[in-house]
Order: sequence, then C-alpha cells, then structure tokens
Amino acid sequence: METPANDKPQLDRGLLLVLSAPSGAGKTTLARRLLADSPDAVFSVSYTTRQPRGKEKDGVDYHFVDVQSFQDKIERGEFVEWAEVHGHFYGSSRSVVEQARAKNGIAVFDIDVQGGQAIKRKYPEAVLVFILPPSMEELERRLRDRKTDSEETIRKRMLVARSEMERGIASYDYIIVNDDFDRAYSELRSVVVAERCRRGRVDLGRLHLDPAPDGKPSAAPGG
Ligand code: 5GP
Repeated sequence: METPANDKPQLDRGLLLVLSAPSGAGKTTLARRLLADSPDAVFSVSYTTRQPRGKEKDGVDYHFVDVQSFQDKIERGEFVEWAEVHGHFYGSSRSVVEQARAKNGIAVFDIDVQGGQAIKRKYPEAVLVFILPPSMEELERRLRDRKTDSEETIRKRMLVARSEMERGIASYDYIIVNDDFDRAYSELRSVVVAERCRRGRVDLGRLHLDPAPDGKPSAAPGG
C-alpha cells in the first residue's frame, strides 16, 4: 500500500535490537532479562532446521521445522534474513519487525553476525550489539559447562567464535563485555534507553514541534 503524501515516513518507528555473540557468551540470558523487564519488547523466535537441544521448546526457543518447510518460507519471503550456521538453516521472521514497528516497540533478535549485518542493510536504523566473553578461556569453559555439545562441536564452535568476534567487533554499533552479568545487563539497558531517546524515535507529535526540514534548530544558540 502507498504512503499518503501528507503522512511522514516513520523510518525510526520501533527499535530493532540485534544481539550477537559467540555461543557461550551469555547473550540469551541477557536477552531474556531484557524481555522480562520491557513490556513493549518482543523476542524474534527464529526458525531453524536443527534438532531441539536439552530443554528447548518449540515456539519458545525456536520454531523447529524441516528443510522443506524452511525453503517454502524463503520462497514466500517470510524471512527478513536467513543463514546457514553450523550446517543448519536459521531465519528471522519478517512479521516480528512489522509487529515492533506497528506498536513502536522493541524487536529483539538473538542471531549471528551475518544475520545482524543483513538486518542492518535492510534497516540501517537497527541497533547491533555484540556481547563478548571476558576471555577465550572463559568462553571454552562455559561451552563445556553446558554439557550439550560433543568435543568436536566445541572445537568447531571455538573456531567459529574467534572469526565471529572479529567480525562483530569490526561492524557492530555497541560492544558489551559480559564478565559480570549485572554490569553487562546494565550496559545493555543503557543502550536501549539511549536509543529510545534518539531523535526520530521520540514521538513529538503531541508537541507540534517538528524540527525544521533540514533537521537543524530554527535559531542558532547565542554566544
Ligand atoms: P544455536 O544452534 O547455538 O542456538 O545457534 C547457532 C547460531 O545461530 C547462534 O550464533 C545464533 O545466534 C544463530 N542464530 C539463531 N537464530 C538465527 C537466525 O534467525 N538468523 C541467523 N542469521 N542466525 C541465527
């Protein structure tokens, strides 16, 4: 549908928040806490063709689907991005972006760097946050503690983690080191609070004080 001519585009409606990290850096726990504290946030439950692990629930942690259904969804354009990670397909549903924009809420994506970069290409106002473990040794220890992966999977994940971290550090908007959960969470909250106050995201409609079309204040400050 066309946007009416007098209806200003709302490019910054809603906040698309991408959290990426090597597995074991604690991003899922941070994402869960953020969601519990933010009634206007929705979690983007990704689709995946991998099998559920441990206590993972269909529709909560992921939508677990077979390769054929995944491919059908690609063809129907249902993904805002999708990728192959560790030999399985993963995709983020477009409807979550639409929901967040319609409600001016937060869409939280717990996805990898290639997914984050794809979202940023489509939605340049998306905010990409990369979570780092305190050290490579600690990351390996956390992966082993999960007791869900084989030795070979752990080795593969450590290799992928290193390149993921290099790419995240080079291209993401914010970097948070998760050496202390409470501090890392407070940094994440600060990013969200600051981004919600960004010009363009604040609803100024009721003040009838829209900035001048060039975005500059109408009068220069004195002095
Ligand atoms: P896991 O299988 O350990 O849950 O996830 C493996 C990797 O896939 C993680 O880095 C996770 O963030 C990423 N991932 C999960 N969902 C998506 C998605 O929808 N798109 C992309 N690009 N990556 C995803």
